[in-house]
Amino acid sequence: MLYIKCTQCGFNNPVKSETILFCESCNKKLEHNFKDWHKMHPDKTFDDFSKQYCISEFDLNVQNLPAQNRKRTFRVAAIILGSAFVFLIILGAVGYYVGKRYLDENFKTQTNQTLLTESWKEVQIGKSDLQLKLPFALEKQEIPLPEAAKNMIDTMESYSHLSDNGFKVMVSVANYKEGIETNLDGAVAGSIGEMQKMQGTSDFKWNRTDTLIGSLKGAMSVVNFKLLTYPMEVKLLTVCNKNILYQIFTQYSEDDETGKKASERIISSATIKKN
Ligand SMILES: [Zn+2]
Repeated sequence: MLYIKCTQCGFNNPVKSETILFCESCNKKLEHNFKDWHKMHPDKTFDDFSKQYCISEFDLNVQNLPAQNRKRTFRVAAIILGSAFVFLIILGAVGYYVGKRYLDENFKTQTNQTLLTESWKEVQIGKSDLQLKLPFALEKQEIPLPEAAKNMIDTMESYSHLSDNGFKVMVSVANYKEGIETNLDGAVAGSIGEMQKMQGTSDFKWNRTDTLIGSLKGAMSVVNFKLLTYPMEVKLLTVCNKNILYQIFTQYSEDDETGKKASERIISSATIKKN
């Protein structure tokens, strides 16, 4: 069921038919109704109208949740994002079935030192206001989001560099819908929790330090764990700004000093314009 809000009294009217014209609650004519709108936009359909003026049952439920529960809802979203990252790391774990050589190439390799001396360029992350300095181009990554996340996220842009050597980077900017305030603790806990649930991982240790990106609060997490028998390190920067969640995820072999330096350099280069 879709709902249309009465701009007079605020009541959300269930859209029982396309012809709905009056508010059920105050009986006044609905400012946004398909009949009048269609006169102005004869080439457009009810579907176009509803995308602009109607909200879904799910959205309505989220709006009606007390703030506390909205945070919980957000935690679910953060967990889904965490899964998206894990989905990428897991691509490597598939190698378990491919053989040891594949794994050695992916998780044991030391990042080539030339990475640090390449020309590092300032890169804008998609349409977002996040900028990073990087020694390579990122590839756009389409991450299939579950329905529950689609209902909470307006847009999500993800970019990655899943190199042939061990060093992996993933950057993601998610714009949540209005009414969903991003929560730093929830996002960090969700992401790390998902990593822990990942098959083939064990021996998790992590620490989190709070940081500032401009005036925005962020959390820097360093996670050490074993992927099968390979000791890995993840550095994850999470920044929240109202309904926007920024995450920069880097992964490399625990003893990969070049990977460690590259990761630090990338993360410390992060700037967010609108703050
Ligand atoms: Zn009304």
